Amino acid sequence: MTETEKTLVSTENFEATEAQLEAVRLAARTAAQAENALERYASIVLTDDETIHRLNCDYRGVDRPTDVLSFPADEGDELLAPPDGFLGDIMISVPRAEAQGKELGHSTERELAFLTVHGMLHLLGYDHIDPEDEKEMLSHQRAIMSLEPLAALGGEKTNETEANTESSESVKAMKEINGFEIKKMIGLAQEARERAYVPYSKFRVGACLKAASGAYYLGCNIENASYSPTVCAERTAVFKAIYEGEREFEALAVCSDSKNCTSPCGVCRQVLSEFCSPDMPVILVSSTGEYRLISLGELLPLAFTKGDME
Ligand SMILES: [Zn+2]
Repeated sequence: MTETEKTLVSTENFEATEAQLEAVRLAARTAAQAENALERYASIVLTDDETIHRLNCDYRGVDRPTDVLSFPADEGDELLAPPDGFLGDIMISVPRAEAQGKELGHSTERELAFLTVHGMLHLLGYDHIDPEDEKEMLSHQRAIMSLEPLAALGGEKTNETEANTESSESVKAMKEINGFEIKKMIGLAQEARERAYVPYSKFRVGACLKAASGAYYLGCNIENASYSPTVCAERTAVFKAIYEGEREFEALAVCSDSKNCTSPCGVCRQVLSEFCSPDMPVILVSSTGEYRLISLGELLPLAFTKGDME
């Protein structure tokens, strides 16, 4: 038994099916793994609309049922220290999940998995009160839902308000990438940053591009006294890889010395679009190692590519 299986899934005032319980367990485990929090665990209760309505009233003062509620352990009674690794409680209304699943055209299990991932991310400290935080939380949520075990539950659409049109779905579609790979690529991009040649701006950038062959290509920014010949870390990595014969790519990580998550410039987005598919994950990393996952298609929607010359 792995540590993460300490997450307890139970029911209250509701008879959940084994498939529903299993979808929730799977989602909790996948979320913890992707967030490198395998040693953390939660208590998840599946219930009915009435019970969650009452809790929503008592704890949030909102007089209606909801789909999911999360109660982080570190926000509870300070006199009662939570046990080691305990993240907190999640409560999910199964009838609500079923209704939302129907509306979105996917199974109750898929919707339960989505709500579980959402609750787990809250317990892990994510929030969606201000728009920047929301973007970050949603990108993690999307990445986790696209991981193999959860993707197998089917369903393309999500109940994210910003993702409810066909075109934005295709832009946001992202190939799966797991948490371990993300951490590895962040480490390599940080190493690449050390090689930056930046006597003028002193702004170091590092990039790590993973090719379909499995090889990693690192790049740094290289400045010039004449300024305009300056090249970015991302393009250095792409050009090195192309020279080595690579033509397909899996993911890109970019980091700099900024406290903000570093995003590729417009020129690099265009160069990446020549060789990388719109669903390629791009990991935008801050100086402290925090990151945001986004697809290349989201960074450069409606890119001009070779297909447009046909
Ligand atoms: Zn650039």
